[in-house]
Amino acid sequence: MNTTTTTATAVLPEDFGQTWVEAMLATVLGSATSRGAATALGDLDRQAGDGDFGTNLTSAFKRVQAEVAATDPADYTAWLTAVSRGFLGTGGTSGPLFGMFFRELARCTEQRTPTVAELSAGLSAGVATVQRYGKAEVGHKTMVDALVPAATALADAVAAGADDALRQATQAAQQGARSTSDIVAKRGRASYVGEVARGVLDPGAVAAALMVQCADAAAAGRSGAVDTRWAQG
Ligand code: ADP
Ligand code: MG
Repeated sequence: MNTTTTTATAVLPEDFGQTWVEAMLATVLGSATSRGAATALGDLDRQAGDGDFGTNLTSAFKRVQAEVAATDPADYTAWLTAVSRGFLGTGGTSGPLFGMFFRELARCTEQRTPTVAELSAGLSAGVATVQRYGKAEVGHKTMVDALVPAATALADAVAAGADDALRQATQAAQQGARSTSDIVAKRGRASYVGEVARGVLDPGAVAAALMVQCADAAAAGRSGAVDTRWAQG
Protein backbone atom coordinates (compact mmCIF):
# COMPACT_ATOMS: atom_id res chain seq x y z
CA MET A 1 0.00 0.00 0.00
CA ASN A 2 1.45 3.34 -1.01
CA THR A 3 1.16 5.74 1.90
CA THR A 4 2.93 8.71 0.28
CA THR A 5 -0.13 10.09 -1.45
CA THR A 6 -0.53 13.82 -2.03
CA THR A 7 -3.61 15.93 -1.54
CA ALA A 8 -4.79 17.86 -4.57
CA THR A 9 -4.15 21.24 -2.99
CA ALA A 10 -0.85 20.22 -1.42
CA VAL A 11 2.43 21.35 -2.86
CA LEU A 12 4.31 18.52 -4.51
CA PRO A 13 7.76 17.55 -3.15
CA GLU A 14 10.28 20.37 -3.56
CA ASP A 15 12.34 18.33 -6.02
CA PHE A 16 9.28 17.07 -7.95
CA GLY A 17 10.51 18.47 -11.29
CA GLN A 18 13.91 16.80 -11.04
CA THR A 19 12.44 13.52 -9.82
CA TRP A 20 9.86 13.52 -12.64
CA VAL A 21 12.48 14.17 -15.32
CA GLU A 22 14.83 11.53 -13.89
CA ALA A 23 11.98 9.00 -13.84
CA MET A 24 11.25 9.73 -17.53
CA LEU A 25 14.94 9.43 -18.45
CA ALA A 26 15.25 6.09 -16.64
CA THR A 27 12.00 4.78 -18.16
CA VAL A 28 12.74 5.77 -21.75
CA LEU A 29 16.51 5.33 -21.96
CA GLY A 30 16.93 2.48 -19.46
CA SER A 31 20.11 1.82 -17.53
CA ALA A 32 23.07 -0.53 -17.53
CA THR A 33 20.80 -3.27 -16.19
CA SER A 34 17.42 -2.51 -17.80
CA ARG A 35 16.29 -1.86 -21.36
CA GLY A 36 14.50 1.43 -21.88
CA ALA A 37 10.94 1.66 -23.22
CA ALA A 38 12.16 3.44 -26.37
CA THR A 39 13.02 0.12 -28.05
CA ALA A 40 9.53 -1.35 -27.67
CA LEU A 41 7.91 1.95 -28.64
CA GLY A 42 10.02 2.01 -31.79
CA ASP A 43 8.77 -1.50 -32.61
CA LEU A 44 5.16 -0.25 -32.42
CA ASP A 45 5.98 2.56 -34.87
CA ARG A 46 7.60 -0.04 -37.16
CA GLN A 47 4.38 -2.07 -37.14
CA ALA A 48 2.06 0.86 -37.88
CA GLY A 49 4.14 3.89 -38.83
CA ASP A 50 7.55 4.61 -40.29
CA GLY A 51 9.63 3.14 -37.47
CA ASP A 52 11.41 6.25 -36.23
CA PHE A 53 9.51 6.90 -32.98
CA GLY A 54 12.00 5.01 -30.76
CA THR A 55 14.95 6.88 -32.28
CA ASN A 56 13.12 10.20 -32.00
CA LEU A 57 12.26 9.60 -28.34
CA THR A 58 15.80 8.47 -27.54
CA SER A 59 17.35 11.52 -29.20
CA ALA A 60 14.89 13.81 -27.43
CA PHE A 61 15.80 12.46 -24.00
CA LYS A 62 19.54 12.46 -24.81
CA ARG A 63 19.09 16.14 -25.65
CA VAL A 64 17.31 16.55 -22.33
CA GLN A 65 20.35 15.09 -20.58
CA ALA A 66 22.60 17.54 -22.43
CA GLU A 67 20.29 20.47 -21.53
CA VAL A 68 20.37 19.40 -17.88
CA ALA A 69 24.17 19.16 -17.91
CA ALA A 70 24.48 22.58 -19.57
CA THR A 71 21.91 24.48 -17.48
CA ASP A 72 21.97 22.75 -14.05
CA PRO A 73 18.22 23.32 -13.49
CA ALA A 74 17.39 24.84 -10.10
CA ASP A 75 13.63 24.43 -9.92
CA TYR A 76 10.60 22.72 -11.48
CA THR A 77 10.29 25.22 -14.35
CA ALA A 78 13.96 24.83 -15.28
CA TRP A 79 13.75 21.00 -15.24
CA LEU A 80 10.63 20.93 -17.40
CA THR A 81 12.08 23.55 -19.74
CA ALA A 82 15.02 21.19 -20.32
CA VAL A 83 12.53 18.50 -21.40
CA SER A 84 10.71 20.93 -23.69
CA ARG A 85 13.96 22.02 -25.36
CA GLY A 86 15.05 18.42 -25.81
CA PHE A 87 11.86 17.62 -27.72
CA LEU A 88 11.76 20.89 -29.69
CA GLY A 89 15.23 20.03 -31.03
CA THR A 90 14.01 16.62 -32.27
CA GLY A 91 12.37 15.59 -35.53
CA GLY A 92 9.26 13.59 -36.31
CA THR A 93 5.74 14.73 -35.57
CA SER A 94 6.06 13.84 -31.91
CA GLY A 95 9.13 16.02 -31.23
CA PRO A 96 7.53 19.46 -31.68
CA LEU A 97 4.22 18.29 -30.17
CA PHE A 98 5.81 16.97 -26.96
CA GLY A 99 8.10 20.04 -26.98
CA MET A 100 5.12 22.41 -26.89
CA PHE A 101 3.33 20.14 -24.41
CA PHE A 102 6.21 20.35 -21.93
CA ARG A 103 6.60 24.10 -22.49
CA GLU A 104 3.08 24.56 -21.13
CA LEU A 105 3.83 22.25 -18.21
CA ALA A 106 7.04 24.18 -17.45
CA ARG A 107 5.02 27.40 -17.24
CA CYS A 108 2.36 26.11 -14.85
CA THR A 109 3.84 27.63 -11.70
CA GLU A 110 5.94 30.57 -10.52
CA GLN A 111 6.95 28.74 -7.36
CA ARG A 112 9.87 26.32 -6.97
CA THR A 113 7.41 23.45 -7.38
CA PRO A 114 3.75 23.39 -8.46
CA THR A 115 0.67 22.45 -6.51
CA VAL A 116 -1.27 19.52 -7.96
CA ALA A 117 -3.90 22.06 -9.05
CA GLU A 118 -1.26 24.06 -10.97
CA LEU A 119 0.06 20.87 -12.53
CA SER A 120 -3.48 20.01 -13.59
CA ALA A 121 -3.91 23.41 -15.25
CA GLY A 122 -0.52 22.95 -16.96
CA LEU A 123 -1.51 19.50 -18.24
CA SER A 124 -4.77 20.86 -19.66
CA ALA A 125 -2.91 23.74 -21.33
CA GLY A 126 -0.37 21.30 -22.77
CA VAL A 127 -3.07 19.04 -24.21
CA ALA A 128 -4.88 22.06 -25.70
CA THR A 129 -1.66 23.11 -27.45
CA VAL A 130 -1.08 19.61 -28.84
CA GLN A 131 -4.62 19.60 -30.22
CA ARG A 132 -4.37 23.12 -31.61
CA TYR A 133 -1.28 22.23 -33.66
CA GLY A 134 -1.92 18.55 -34.38
CA LYS A 135 -5.69 18.74 -34.94
CA ALA A 136 -6.17 15.27 -33.44
CA GLU A 137 -9.27 14.33 -31.45
CA VAL A 138 -9.74 11.41 -29.08
CA GLY A 139 -10.16 8.26 -31.20
CA HIS A 140 -7.69 9.32 -33.91
CA LYS A 141 -5.05 6.94 -32.45
CA THR A 142 -2.48 9.47 -31.25
CA MET A 143 -0.93 10.73 -28.00
CA VAL A 144 -4.17 12.72 -27.58
CA ASP A 145 -5.99 9.44 -26.73
CA ALA A 146 -3.89 9.21 -23.54
CA LEU A 147 -3.47 12.92 -22.78
CA VAL A 148 -7.11 14.07 -22.91
CA PRO A 149 -8.38 11.42 -20.42
CA ALA A 150 -5.37 12.12 -18.17
CA ALA A 151 -6.05 15.87 -18.10
CA THR A 152 -9.77 15.32 -17.48
CA ALA A 153 -9.15 12.78 -14.70
CA LEU A 154 -6.59 15.05 -13.03
CA ALA A 155 -8.91 18.07 -13.16
CA ASP A 156 -11.81 16.00 -11.77
CA ALA A 157 -9.64 14.56 -8.99
CA VAL A 158 -8.40 18.04 -8.03
CA ALA A 159 -11.97 19.36 -7.97
CA ALA A 160 -13.01 16.42 -5.77
CA GLY A 161 -10.07 16.99 -3.40
CA ALA A 162 -8.79 13.47 -4.05
CA ASP A 163 -5.51 12.50 -2.39
CA ASP A 164 -4.46 10.26 -5.28
CA ALA A 165 -5.07 12.68 -8.16
CA LEU A 166 -1.96 11.73 -10.19
CA ARG A 167 -2.71 8.04 -9.74
CA GLN A 168 -6.19 8.60 -11.19
CA ALA A 169 -4.67 10.57 -14.08
CA THR A 170 -2.21 7.71 -14.72
CA GLN A 171 -4.95 5.10 -14.80
CA ALA A 172 -6.97 7.21 -17.25
CA ALA A 173 -3.89 7.74 -19.45
CA GLN A 174 -3.06 4.02 -19.49
CA GLN A 175 -6.64 3.09 -20.31
CA GLY A 176 -6.66 5.68 -23.11
CA ALA A 177 -3.35 4.41 -24.49
CA ARG A 178 -4.57 0.80 -24.38
CA SER A 179 -7.73 1.78 -26.28
CA THR A 180 -5.62 2.82 -29.29
CA SER A 181 -5.06 -0.84 -30.10
CA ASP A 182 -8.70 -1.29 -31.15
CA ILE A 183 -8.81 1.49 -33.74
CA VAL A 184 -7.27 2.63 -37.02
CA ALA A 185 -5.47 5.97 -37.19
CA LYS A 186 -6.95 9.21 -38.50
CA ARG A 187 -3.80 11.29 -37.90
CA GLY A 188 -0.07 10.74 -38.35
CA ARG A 189 1.75 8.20 -40.46
CA ALA A 190 -0.18 5.28 -38.97
CA SER A 191 -3.21 6.65 -40.88
CA TYR A 192 -1.43 5.73 -44.16
CA VAL A 193 -1.51 2.02 -43.32
CA GLY A 194 -5.25 1.76 -42.57
CA GLU A 195 -6.35 -1.59 -41.13
CA VAL A 196 -2.74 -2.69 -40.57
CA ALA A 197 -2.68 -0.40 -37.52
CA ARG A 198 -5.57 -2.20 -35.85
CA GLY A 199 -4.25 -4.37 -33.03
CA VAL A 200 -1.17 -2.17 -32.58
CA LEU A 201 -0.90 0.30 -29.69
CA ASP A 202 -0.08 3.88 -30.69
CA PRO A 203 3.49 4.51 -29.50
CA GLY A 204 2.89 8.22 -28.85
CA ALA A 205 -0.10 7.42 -26.65
CA VAL A 206 1.90 4.83 -24.67
CA ALA A 207 4.80 7.29 -24.27
CA ALA A 208 2.42 10.01 -23.09
CA ALA A 209 0.86 7.64 -20.52
CA LEU A 210 4.34 6.68 -19.28
CA MET A 211 5.15 10.39 -18.81
CA VAL A 212 2.04 10.84 -16.64
CA GLN A 213 2.91 7.63 -14.76
CA CYS A 214 6.39 9.07 -14.06
CA ALA A 215 4.77 12.23 -12.61
CA ASP A 216 2.75 10.05 -10.24
CA ALA A 217 5.89 8.17 -9.20
CA ALA A 218 7.76 11.46 -8.70
CA ALA A 219 4.97 12.80 -6.48
CA ALA A 220 5.74 9.83 -4.23
CA GLY A 221 9.49 10.55 -4.45
CA ARG A 222 10.45 7.72 -6.86
CA SER A 223 12.87 8.67 -9.64
CA GLY A 224 13.63 5.22 -11.12
CA ALA A 225 12.04 3.64 -14.18
CA VAL A 226 8.30 2.98 -13.89
CA ASP A 227 6.65 -0.36 -14.61
CA THR A 228 5.82 -0.59 -18.34
CA ARG A 229 4.22 -4.06 -18.30
CA TRP A 230 0.68 -2.64 -18.67
CA ALA A 231 1.61 -1.66 -22.24
CA GLN A 232 2.71 -5.16 -23.28
CA GLY A 233 0.64 -7.87 -24.85
P1 ADP B 1 6.18 10.66 -37.49
O1 ADP B 1 4.76 10.20 -37.55
O2 ADP B 1 6.37 11.96 -38.18
O3 ADP B 1 7.14 9.59 -37.92
P2 ADP B 1 6.92 10.13 -34.73
O4 ADP B 1 7.18 8.73 -35.12
O5 ADP B 1 7.99 10.87 -34.02
O6 ADP B 1 6.45 11.02 -35.97
O7 ADP B 1 5.64 10.18 -33.79
C1 ADP B 1 4.54 9.37 -34.03
C2 ADP B 1 3.52 9.66 -32.94
O8 ADP B 1 3.09 11.02 -33.03
C3 ADP B 1 2.26 8.83 -33.07
O9 ADP B 1 2.40 7.63 -32.34
C4 ADP B 1 1.17 9.73 -32.49
O10 ADP B 1 0.95 9.46 -31.12
C5 ADP B 1 1.74 11.12 -32.62
N1 ADP B 1 1.03 11.92 -33.62
C6 ADP B 1 1.10 11.82 -34.97
N2 ADP B 1 0.32 12.76 -35.55
C7 ADP B 1 -0.27 13.45 -34.53
C8 ADP B 1 -1.19 14.54 -34.45
N3 ADP B 1 -1.67 15.12 -35.55
N4 ADP B 1 -1.57 14.98 -33.23
C9 ADP B 1 -1.09 14.39 -32.10
N5 ADP B 1 -0.20 13.38 -32.11
C10 ADP B 1 0.20 12.91 -33.30
MG1 MG C 1 7.30 7.76 -36.93
